Amino acid sequence: MSNLFELSSRKQVPVYTKMKPKPDGSQLVNYKNEKDYDYYKCDYCGEEIKILSKKQEMTGGTIRFSHLVTKKGDIELALHNKCLRAAIKIFEEGEKK
Ligand SMILES: [Zn+2]
Repeated sequence: MSNLFELSSRKQVPVYTKMKPKPDGSQLVNYKNEKDYDYYKCDYCGEEIKILSKKQEMTGGTIRFSHLVTKKGDIELALHNKCLRAAIKIFEEGEKK
């Protein structure tokens, strides 16, 4: 797990792109890489959060924590719904020295 406090310097939550696996037989000269889907990487557990057009079907998303929570300035994180509580707890406990 990365240090969430270090992310305060990050401007934007990075979006990663998953490409479709190449079909067998790389003699396909004209094979063009095809995008499968975009995803965020959860800042808490590091697993993928697929970006779907139907937001309510996503397992998480990006969320902005204000400086009132982080005491370090606004921090935008990508988090699973299930990881949100744990992330908040980290901020509540404060940065470990
Ligand atoms: Zn997660």
